[in-house]
Amino acid sequence: MERVYIGMGSNLADPAEQLRSALDALAHLPATALAGVSAFYQSDSLLPGQPRYTNAVAALDSSLSPLELLDALQAIENDQGRERLERWGPRTLDLDILLFGDRLIDEPRLKVPHYHMQERAFVLYPLAELAPKELRLADGRTLAELLAACPFTGLERL
Ligand code: ATP
Ligand code: MG
Ligand code: MG
Repeated sequence: MERVYIGMGSNLADPAEQLRSALDALAHLPATALAGVSAFYQSDSLLPGQPRYTNAVAALDSSLSPLELLDALQAIENDQGRERLERWGPRTLDLDILLFGDRLIDEPRLKVPHYHMQERAFVLYPLAELAPKELRLADGRTLAELLAACPFTGLERL
């Protein structure tokens, strides 16, 4: 079993309900236990003209391989009506693998740690509810250091 953190986001079709359905699906994944969930947070989209996002982070303990887990997450996204029309377009559900144990993964379909997590307040603050502050990310910085460099501004804890 390895500890995995999943970044969750939605800005269409009742985002909080999308996250609740996704959590139910995560709890039913094979060879996987749902170990924790952060609060839900709202923030403006990084791109103008999109509805506000609701985000959360989930902790899993899983013995799936990273690519098996990615396949399962994409199946959940598809089940919940995810359409891939444009990069970073509005979406019913986004499930990203933030961290997978202490692995560094660099494959065409999967980069872990997730490449933008270090500067995203809507990832770091919910992650900090679940993970130890001394957790070290790929570039050697701790979660505490990343939080100190990432203002909470614009985030609303629900
Ligand atoms: P961002 O990556 O900036 O958060 P996004 O989540 O909207 O953008 P998606 O459209 O969900 O991007 O995913 C695009 C591709 O990213 C996926 O098809 C997947 O293969 C790939 N990918 C690479 N690394 C990861 C990861 N750690 N978790 C999820 N998908 C990943
Ligand atoms: Mg994403
Ligand atoms: Mg994604």
